[in-house]
Amino acid sequence: MTAPDLAAPVGGWRVWRLGADDDGPVLESPLAAATWPARAALTAVCHRGCGDAPAWGCGCGLYALDHPHRLATDMLWRTGILGCTALWGRVVEHEEGWRGEHSYPLVLFLLSPDEVLRRVAGGSLAVASARRAVIGAARARRMTGLGETLVGALQRRYGVPVHVLPASSPAAFAEREVGALAGRVRDESVLGLPARRLGDRVATARLDRVVDRLLEGLRPDLPPLPA
Ligand SMILES: [Zn+2]
Repeated sequence: MTAPDLAAPVGGWRVWRLGADDDGPVLESPLAAATWPARAALTAVCHRGCGDAPAWGCGCGLYALDHPHRLATDMLWRTGILGCTALWGRVVEHEEGWRGEHSYPLVLFLLSPDEVLRRVAGGSLAVASARRAVIGAARARRMTGLGETLVGALQRRYGVPVHVLPASSPAAFAEREVGALAGRVRDESVLGLPARRLGDRVATARLDRVVDRLLEGLRPDLPPLPA
């Protein structure tokens, strides 16, 4: 039995690791050898030989979870990048999320851009290369501030909004109010996708609004928003 083929994408949360190629920073899977190409879908490949990833009885496919509080906090701290992704094509549904055939990010959040650059994979080649690529891009644009440049570079490359999370926010995703706000970001990021792709500014503003509300909800010094 093959997984159902979904014409409309589902939206879910996941984490990414920062990598780099000659053109700048790229999004990578923290667990598998997979790099999300800019402006094109990433398609799942099964390393155990499933012809049509994702398969029911296998663990293959591109993962996304229904709520960000399910993301392992240590993984999030280590990678520093989370966000919503669209999954489409063959999609296998799980209790806490999905495995899909195709994936593309819809909206990204960086824990702290400078931290992301500093922490990721503890000084591996990928980080050294990401730093070089981002610093190179900064010099070319006569910009300072590595973190800001990373946000801008990811935004330009992937064509999706990139936001910086308030400090110490991963634990806050488990709070009920924050969870509800995160749910709205996930829903709007995927439901408004066709309109945003067609240049609908109202749809773009709608996503910005729910993202702003989530970011406000994650600031520990502010009282919770009314429901
Ligand atoms: Zn497989």
